[in-house]
Amino acid sequence: MDKIKKASELIEESSKTMVLTGAGISTESGIPDFRSPGTGLWENVDPMELLSTSVLYNNPEKFYDKGYKMLLNMTDAEPNRAHFALAEMEKRGFIKGIITQNIDNLHHKAGSKYILEVHGNTREASCMNCGNTVPLDVVTEKVNNGQIPPKCDRCQGILRPDVIFFGDMLPEDFNIASNEVSSSDLLIVVGSSLAVSPVNYLPQMAKNLIIINKGTSVMDHYSDVLLNGSAGDILESILENLLGE
Ligand code: NAD
Repeated sequence: MDKIKKASELIEESSKTMVLTGAGISTESGIPDFRSPGTGLWENVDPMELLSTSVLYNNPEKFYDKGYKMLLNMTDAEPNRAHFALAEMEKRGFIKGIITQNIDNLHHKAGSKYILEVHGNTREASCMNCGNTVPLDVVTEKVNNGQIPPKCDRCQGILRPDVIFFGDMLPEDFNIASNEVSSSDLLIVVGSSLAVSPVNYLPQMAKNLIIINKGTSVMDHYSDVLLNGSAGDILESILENLLGE
């Protein structure tokens, strides 16, 4: 059977479907992923070092000089066809919501409503001392004015983006995401190599699994339907099929 048709049938038969997205869904918005050969960020820098609590705590100057700039590159991007297709699927009741490893805010910009951001976001920052939260733009302004590391206006503690760095604990959203997946009939993974733990345990908890990916993922062998190609093309085709167009 045609794979788009088979995926659509699984979605139609499911009473609850969650979607797990990774960096691959945003490459068509111009944000490089980590691991794609030739274009992935890992080809040029080691994000595991730059985006780590170790650099943030021990060498905040280096973090704000290099890692922070990597994050800022994501904040100007616009959602693509894949983000919009998922927002439409939620609106029409085909999916309950999205669990994203991405920090680029593109599901919000596309109009999705129920979004669990298991690796945080690039909308806000918090004080490492008092917990005060401010919009990320406030931090950027301080950095651009030469205040490195940027300080909290309330207590002069150091401000950090609300992104989960290597070395950080996962947020409460991750527990909610685990419960959502274990109580779902179907999980659709879009654009993730599933190499990052513990998020890559979620597909193992899924009753049925669809994987949409350009390259390979660690869980390909485990999927019920494996669709290799562009997330934008495939999600649009599935949506058209679901709408009977
Ligand atoms: P990854 O880089 O490990 O894997 C991305 C996967 O997407 C690859 O398998 C690749 O083949 C596939 N892909 C690339 N372009 C695609 C497209 N157009 N259509 C379909 N598939 C495509 O990404 P990951 O598994 O999300 O893990 C990386 C970690 O880095 C995550 O924790 C994520 O938070 C973070 N990250 C986030 C962003 C972002 O917010 N946009 C960008 C880079 C990294």
